[in-house]
Order: sequence, then structure tokens, then C-alpha cells
Amino acid sequence: MDYEAFFQTELDTLKDDGRYRTFAELERKAGAFPRARHYTDDGVGEVTVWCSNDYLGMGQHPAVLAAMHDTLDSCGAGAGGTRNISGTNHHHVLLETELADLHGKEAALLFTSGYVSNWAALSTLASRLPNCVIFSDALNHASMIEGMRHSRAECHRFKHSDPADLDRLLSMVEPGRPKLVAFESVYSMDGDIGPIAEILDVCEKHGALSYIDEVHAVGLYGPRGGGIAEREGLMDRIDVIEGTLGKAFGVMGGYIAASKNLCDFIRSFASGFIFSTALPPAIAAGACASIRHLKTSQIERQRHQERVAQVRRRLDAIGIPTLDNPSHIIPVMVGDAHKCKMISDWLLEHHGIYVQPINYPTVPVGTERLRITPSPVHTDGDIDRLVNALSEIWSQCELARRAMAA
Ligand SMILES: *Cc1c(COP(=O)(O)O)cnc(C)c1O
Repeated sequence: MDYEAFFQTELDTLKDDGRYRTFAELERKAGAFPRARHYTDDGVGEVTVWCSNDYLGMGQHPAVLAAMHDTLDSCGAGAGGTRNISGTNHHHVLLETELADLHGKEAALLFTSGYVSNWAALSTLASRLPNCVIFSDALNHASMIEGMRHSRAECHRFKHSDPADLDRLLSMVEPGRPKLVAFESVYSMDGDIGPIAEILDVCEKHGALSYIDEVHAVGLYGPRGGGIAEREGLMDRIDVIEGTLGKAFGVMGGYIAASKNLCDFIRSFASGFIFSTALPPAIAAGACASIRHLKTSQIERQRHQERVAQVRRRLDAIGIPTLDNPSHIIPVMVGDAHKCKMISDWLLEHHGIYVQPINYPTVPVGTERLRITPSPVHTDGDIDRLVNALSEIWSQCELARRAMAA
């Protein structure tokens, strides 16, 4: 086989479809977020980032940086091993204690990323619980889907955020079988929030284990940043809460929070946990500082919500079509892969505004979009520039505007 020709053909197909991924080469400037240097073949420019998942700017917070500097100097660079073989650092244990407390659970277990935590926890639970059946929300993240698929357990997809459909599917399974229900709180691409209480009612009715991904909510919602489940007083009804340290907490890593036995079970059986080098201690210390800060400080969350509302108001006022939702994610709908990429390129080139186009397979064909994530570190001036630039390109390309409210 001509391997190179094969790779080339596959890549050409992506390019023809407008789905080929190009990465913006950035150098984020600590202390100056959302500003970053942008490296291109033509040189280096400055851009304002409007699509970061460092939602609160915690990646440049002095407390986080200080903790990381201190720990780097005191513990060195890497963890030095897997958790089992010399890699469990004091800072991992402190962080797990902090996470268990954040979610009001007996225990927490750290992973190298949110992706790995979903993959490892779901695949281990579904493969080890004897004859387990999985019920998965239709819009679950790739990391959950991969984990469930890897388990080879029987899997049913329920309609997105539809407790009645979940109830219907659960009713068809023998009552005695172990059942695992996996869903999210804030869905990252549409920014909608699942009906957690109603899903938990159904789980409890059928004796199913509940597993929630709060990756886009931890740090951002709830009085201590415990997520939507904290805000709604539901944490104690959920069996497994999964989160990331890489988004609102601004660092890196993933985790689950659950009962002592469940965490110990995953710790003991999950290959994605056992056979991988532990996070660097400095990363753990930085994440710990970030969580601690956000447990008591409301300023970042308040300012975040205020910025989001402001951007939404401004876009609504000029009829730029956004998907309405109750979260901090603002999807500006374009509906065409080529146009979406073209708008993104134009914003970058002419205005130094960086918003990555989101195309298939991340979102369905025909719903291509710009996913805008305002943060507390975006100024009024930044918002003016974004809104004016979008208005200009919308007129230039004769894109449809939403009927403006009277
Ligand atoms: C980003 C994401 C993850 C993975 O978390 P990482 O820490 O980035 O690996 C898991 N679930 C959802 C819904 C995500 O958007």
C-alpha cells in the first residue's frame, strides 16, 4: 500500500469539505489575558482570544502562579512515576481532598485530563459491573462515548436531556441489572443545561448509578464553584461527579468525585489511571490554589456572568444570530463550514480577533458556528471591537440577521 498517498487523500477530503483543522499558533501573555502573540508565516502579531476555555482567566491568577512556582522549586518538574510506583506526591493528595470537599463527596480521584477521567471511569464501571447497561445522553462528549464504547457493555442512547425517554429505555431493562446513566450539566457546544433533578429522579426510580460531566461548569457555577449540581443543591444525589482542572480552573488534569469505595474501585481497576505517570506536582498545586480561591471568591463568577450578558445583549441588538441558552457559552450560528472558516480567518487577519470556527464532526453539518466565550478579563473595548467586527463581516457577506426585537 502507498501509505503516504492514503494519508494525502484523506487530508484532501477534509480540506474539500472545509473540515481541515488549522491551529492558531499562540503565545498567551500571562498578566495580559485575553491578549496573546500570534505566530504566522508572515511574522508575529497580537490577538485578542475570544474562544478560550480558561473561562475565568485563572491561568494567570497570582495565587495559581505562586503555588506553581513554589512547588516547581520545592518538588522539581515531574511526578517521577505512576501513582502506584513512586509518583504519588503530597500535592496530589491535597488536591484530591480539596476536590472531595468541593463536591461534598467522601473521596476524589485525579487523572491526567478530563478526557482520561471520563474514559477511564466510565469504561471501568461499565466493564466491571456485571452485565451493566449504559444509558448515554445523545450529545455526550467524545471522551464519555469512547469510554463507554471501550467497556463493550450494552449501551442505549437517550434523547438529549429527555428524562421521559431515559425512563422509557430504563423500563425495558430487567430491574436487577446494574445500570449506569451518563450525562452532562453544561453542554459545551450549544451551552444548554441538562434537567439534572429530573434525570436523577429517573435514575433513583430505576436504581441506576448516575454519572455527570460538569467539565464546563466547575469553578463557574454554585456558591463555591462546585458546578450546576452545587447551584441546584443536587450534589449528594449524584453518584459520580466528573470535572476538569483545565478549563475554569485554568491549569490541567481531570477528576471524579464520589464515594470512598467507588473512587477506590476506579483507582484499583482503571488502566488509564494505573499505567500513566501522575500529574506534575506543580500542576496539582496550581489547580489546588485555583479551586481554593474560587471556593470563596465570587468576583470572577459575577464578572464572568456580567460579561456574557453584555456580549449577548450587544449581539442581539444588531441581530447577529446566537443560540439562546442559560450558560456562559455564546454560539454565533453560521451554518456553513466554508463561511465559518472564512469569517474566522477574516476576524483574525483584519481585526486581531481570534474565534476558532467549530465545524463537523464537533457539531452537526449545517450548524457550523463561532463559539464565543467571554471572560472577566475581556474589557468593554474588547467587546466593542468584537461586536463591530462581526457586524461588518455580517454585512459584507450578506449573512442573515435575526429579526430585531421591537
Ligand atoms: C473538554 C471536555 C472534556 C475533557 O476535559 P480535558 O480536561 O480537556 O481533557 C470532557 N468533557 C467535556 C464535556 C469537555 O468539553
